This record gives sequence, structure tokens and C-alpha cells, in this order.
Amino acid sequence: MSSGPLELTERPVPEPGPGQLLVKVIACGVCRTDLHLVEGDLPPRHLRMTPGHEVVGQVVATGPGATRFREGDRVGAAWLAGTDGTCRFCRRGDENLCPDSVYTGWDIHGGYAEYLTVADAFAHPLPGGFTDTELAPLLCAGIIGYRALRRAEVPPGGTLGIWGFGGSAHLAAQIALAEGAEVHVFTRSPADRELARSLGAASVQNSFDPSPVPLDSAILFAPVGNIVPPALAALDRGGTLAIAGIYLTDIPPLNYEQHLFQERNLRSVTSNTRGDAQEFLTLAQRLRIKVTTTPYRFDQADQALADLEADRFNGAAVLHM
Ligand SMILES: [Zn+2]
Ligand SMILES: [Zn+2]
Repeated sequence: MSSGPLELTERPVPEPGPGQLLVKVIACGVCRTDLHLVEGDLPPRHLRMTPGHEVVGQVVATGPGATRFREGDRVGAAWLAGTDGTCRFCRRGDENLCPDSVYTGWDIHGGYAEYLTVADAFAHPLPGGFTDTELAPLLCAGIIGYRALRRAEVPPGGTLGIWGFGGSAHLAAQIALAEGAEVHVFTRSPADRELARSLGAASVQNSFDPSPVPLDSAILFAPVGNIVPPALAALDRGGTLAIAGIYLTDIPPLNYEQHLFQERNLRSVTSNTRGDAQEFLTLAQRLRIKVTTTPYRFDQADQALADLEADRFNGAAVLHM
């Protein structure tokens, strides 16, 4: 981020092609994946790509065959921008694993922009009861956090450890708490510890502190491989650790006895299905999830990403057009 990798440029407003919507951006969340993309942790798929995949906007035109939304509708665009719909993963309901999937802000231009095109079939209707700013982080941080929570398979009334407590974790934690889990949070940031406490975490400590209780489930939101061994060691028998991020630094060697034996499980989380998105957005509305955001102007995207990297704000950063 220190080299200022983003550049403000003028491009013509795109034309919506077949099955596409032209969306005027109202707000766009700043996700950790954007940071991994602009810093090159994830290899770029195209040069000079516009990042941003937590897009809240208004449909201003529809392409041929785009029938789900009309001009004036408020829609969301998320990370998963398209799949082939025909491979064996798509056919069995695991479209998040489609080898031909494309992603907003990686394969196609994203929402750090005034306009973008979105596939009609992959645009999300948005729940009521939230401001545009609050909706933005629900679209990736929220959905992925929700998938990670489901992958962590918290048993009824179980204990859940959460490592890292930013945009994604603070939303997933509220669902876990509403479902009756006892949540223990591990994070280095004092502001994040405060947020975790205010949302009802049973305990809050530093990233490498020992867990106060054996954990049935755990989610690693911090992109730090060094946390995997202590998080596994904190699991009770049969417990599950889900790694929520798209990127993780290397995991140090594991010791079978200390970290995996007694049927502990280690899982990754890869993107999400449209079904996850629908489930999560419905649940977020029903549970009246509290979304903590920090606003930035559109032309402050560099600053927002630098602040994300340095843990300088609470919850999720959101750009306003
Ligand atoms: Zn597929
Ligand atoms: Zn994201």
C-alpha cells in the first residue's frame, strides 16, 4: 500500500450486454481481499482492474434477456460474478467450487467506480432495514463469514473461537451468538476487542493467548498461518477449525498428536454460493444484525485500504460515491 497502487481514471460508462445490468454505484465496501489483490498476494488476472466486490447500487439499464430486476431497483453485487453452470460442481450445488467462475474486481471490473455491469443472475436483491452503507459489507464480509460459520459446524450451545475481529468476524459472531453459541474472541487490536465485548463475546483476548475453554469450533479470519497450530490446539475432541480467508500466510508444521488427533478437522472456505448469500441476507434482516462501518470518500480508496492493513478502524470500511 505504501506505493499507492490505485489510480483514479476515467473510463466510458459500460454498456450492459446480454443478461447484464448496468448498475450505478452508491456504496462499495472495502474487503481484505481487495488488499490482497492490490498488494499482489493474489496474482492479478488482468492489469488495471477496478477492485471492489461489496457493491450497493441502483439498476440504471438492463441488457437483453436480463429480467430479474428493473431500472430503479437497488441491487447488490458480490464476489462471485459468474459460473459456467454446467460443471459437476455447479450441478451438485457447489458453485463456489466452479473452476470457470469469475469474480468481481478480479476478472471483471468492480465497484470502486461510478458504474459497473453485473450479471443479472448473480445480482442480489437487498434486504430492508439497512442503510446503503450497512448493506455493503454484508455482501462479502457478511456472506463469507456466514459460510465460514457453517463450515465450522458449531454444535447447539457449543463454544466458538474467533481469531481476528474485523468486518467479517463481527457479523458472523452475531449470528453465532443469536444461535446460542458461546463466543471467545482472539485479536491483537484493542478497538476490535472492545467491539467484540460490546456484541456479547464471553471472553476477549490477544491472538496468541490460550483459550479459556476447549472450543467445539473455531474460525480463523486473520490471514495469519501462524495462528493455525494454536487454534487447532484449542479445539476440543471432534472440533472444527474453518479458515475463512482467500489468502493465508504459510502454516508452520503441525504435530499430529497436538493439533489433529481426536478427530479435529481443518477446513478452508472458498467463495460462496448464491444460496449462502440468500440465506445470510435473510438471516441478517431477521436478526437485525448490527453493522459497524467506517465511511470513506470514493477518492480515498487508497487510504481505506492502508487503514485496513494497519487495523486503524472498527468493523468495515465503506466507500461512498
Ligand atoms: Zn461450474
Ligand atoms: Zn471480499
